Amino acid sequence: MPKKPKKTTEEKVIEDYFPLDEEDAEHATEKQVKETIPDFKQIVEKEYKKPERSSLERVEKIPKIKIKKSKATRKVKYSPKKIKLKKGGYELIVTEKPQAASKIASALGNPKRKDSKGISYYELERKGKKIIVACAVGHLFTLKQNIPGSEIPIFEISWIPNYLARKKDFTKKYYDTLLKLAKDSGSITIATDYDIEGEVIGLNVVRFICGQKDAKRMKFSTLTTQELNKAYDEKSPHIDWGQAIAGETRHYLDWFYGINLSRALMNAIKTTGRFKIMSIGRVQGPALNLIVQKEKDIQKFKPEPYWQVFITVDDERPRGRSIASTELRAESGAGKNKLELKYNQDIFDKSKLEKFENIVGKTAIAETKKTEQVLPPNPPFNLTTLQTEAYKFYGLTPSRTLQIAQSLYLGGLISYPRTSSQKLPESIGYKEILKKLAKEYNVEKLITKKKPVEGKKLDSAHPSIYPTGNKQILAGDDEKIYNLITKRFLSLFCDSAIIDNKKVSAVLDELIFSARGASVRKKAWMEIYPTKLKEIEIPDLKGEVKITNSKTEQKETQPPKRYSPASIISQLEKKNLGTKATRSSILETLYNRNYVKGKSIEATPLGISLITTLEKYSPIIINEKLTRNFENEMEAIQKLKKNFEEKEKKVIDKAKQTIISIAKDFGKNEKKIGEELLKATNELRQQQKIENTLMRCPVCKKGDLGIMYSRKTKRHFIACDAYPDCTNTYSLPPRGVIKKTNKVCEECGFPMLMRLLRGRRPWVFCFNPKCKTNEEWAKKREKKEEKENTLSDLE
Ligand SMILES: [Zn+2]
Ligand SMILES: [Zn+2]
Repeated sequence: MPKKPKKTTEEKVIEDYFPLDEEDAEHATEKQVKETIPDFKQIVEKEYKKPERSSLERVEKIPKIKIKKSKATRKVKYSPKKIKLKKGGYELIVTEKPQAASKIASALGNPKRKDSKGISYYELERKGKKIIVACAVGHLFTLKQNIPGSEIPIFEISWIPNYLARKKDFTKKYYDTLLKLAKDSGSITIATDYDIEGEVIGLNVVRFICGQKDAKRMKFSTLTTQELNKAYDEKSPHIDWGQAIAGETRHYLDWFYGINLSRALMNAIKTTGRFKIMSIGRVQGPALNLIVQKEKDIQKFKPEPYWQVFITVDDERPRGRSIASTELRAESGAGKNKLELKYNQDIFDKSKLEKFENIVGKTAIAETKKTEQVLPPNPPFNLTTLQTEAYKFYGLTPSRTLQIAQSLYLGGLISYPRTSSQKLPESIGYKEILKKLAKEYNVEKLITKKKPVEGKKLDSAHPSIYPTGNKQILAGDDEKIYNLITKRFLSLFCDSAIIDNKKVSAVLDELIFSARGASVRKKAWMEIYPTKLKEIEIPDLKGEVKITNSKTEQKETQPPKRYSPASIISQLEKKNLGTKATRSSILETLYNRNYVKGKSIEATPLGISLITTLEKYSPIIINEKLTRNFENEMEAIQKLKKNFEEKEKKVIDKAKQTIISIAKDFGKNEKKIGEELLKATNELRQQQKIENTLMRCPVCKKGDLGIMYSRKTKRHFIACDAYPDCTNTYSLPPRGVIKKTNKVCEECGFPMLMRLLRGRRPWVFCFNPKCKTNEEWAKKREKKEEKENTLSDLE
């Protein structure tokens, strides 16, 4: 089920699955800095547990594994307490996160911080009225099936509190605090994030904890004092029902798909006598299909040789004939007017290369064409473009960027990041923000426009991402993302840049050669916003030129490029699959399930086989169009003014029909599907084993040493795969990602490993404890690791 990605740990998990290459390690060499907006993280994020490391799932024979009866199969009873609002009671404002509660309380008055079971809430007075601001902590409720059992299809589900759904649930304290505060309140105002997830969080608090049918709603895009006051004064008398029902429908659909399809897959595998956790979701299927199709294109691809011909020409004319060339010569002497040009076609028929024999020494006719290109600033950031640019400039994964943006938003520094808008309405007060930031960034001279450049995309709930003008000292990735957002915002108010393009061509009979140059005449917004424009200077050539050299290069056509984490997310957006809030977590699930791997996203044998099998036996699961239709219908619900429930029922019924027909597909071919998936799983394991194998075990000389992970100690270590016959193991540094390198230790011949850790230089080491290189280091390293562990606890 897609959830908002909100955890630092999640992002660490995804890093574990990106086999970072040495060249990528530059991203890991930044100076380590303490995060500067950690208060929210420190309080809350520790409690968000990172997902299971599914890479370590083993395919076991059934008798070996005890399948515990999960809570999913036990009946859970939940009937919310009935409470009545008190006449004359205080106003209870409910926020989505702890940090938002503190921001809203301070914006509306002079709050006193109170405490219930360790959960903070705030009491304040505004115009003689008592207000209490308290928080949820994301979702407090989850969907659960009503009757135990694992048959499919199953559709009987309802909302129950998280604490009844899982053991040791940390949200119970928040549930209890809200319940306690609701009992004495006179009215309820929802102030969760203004989007579909936020509305569902609010709706569930209103109906299940507060026992109400409706509540007031504060709507805002930034956590600034000014906007929060406005949002409070102009609050809506109702929650946003379109948004709430659209969100609820999404939850139902995702549950139906997620649970039923995953069970179908697992049941299919069970028919082979094995057990493996597998899943596929409503958006996951089509998303994985995109990656697999690309992989198939790459596999099908046959490189073709082709040739490119280059000539070097020299301007033979005497000096002083053209002003431009005179200047050039005057500057750096003769030879400056030498230029390499490329034949303007790639040649696939080798025999055609004959035409280029004996052309050296001949005279060609040159011409220079100049054009001016006006480049306006890029439109304001929405989530996808921010994620794409952050990946391009800093190599940050989309989920990491979202997480940073979320914390900048909670710090009141930027507007709500989960937006698809490219608009910047005047009502946000950009004039003031611009004045302040232009001064701070010392770019006042470049600001020439009163109105910003805007893009086409709209979002009914929020404007594009912009800085609020509030200040806080930032460092590390937070600072980078904040600066990128601010610079993008400032650039919107600048002139267009002007690029001088130049094309020099040289014609010899029917052969045309050309070279292109570009220089920036006016940088304008490019002086503020980072751009990757390459300037190429070439001389002006006109008239007769002598060909002084020629060369032929043989090349090969290249296979299609794999998706990067950023490009797959923009592709999903283009195809309207998933939502801005869920796309990065969908991608993460594909990594976690071992369907894809690598930074340049490659489908694994398991991912490819899953899609191939589904294509054969139940193509509806990966049907992009169906998924997109559901997205459109949910968007339609969001815009409705009435009859929400009717439409909700219609969409849900359609989803049920789809799932029933998928279940039928599986019923018919369960055994075949199971066998194909099992084969793929074994292939994947084989591949992973090869990738993880380091060397023959020096102790037993029969097994191979590989990197393993212990769930018990939560550490990686090296062990011999002849276990239990051989118990040889080696320990590894406790933190970071351990990678194989292609280096061998000069002292002992063991393969060298590399440890990557954010904020550190990659560390290449020999894992042989008896190696000379380790004798003096052993003690030092121990101390160092201890220190690092202490540091990591603080992170
Ligand atoms: Zn061994
Ligand atoms: Zn060594």
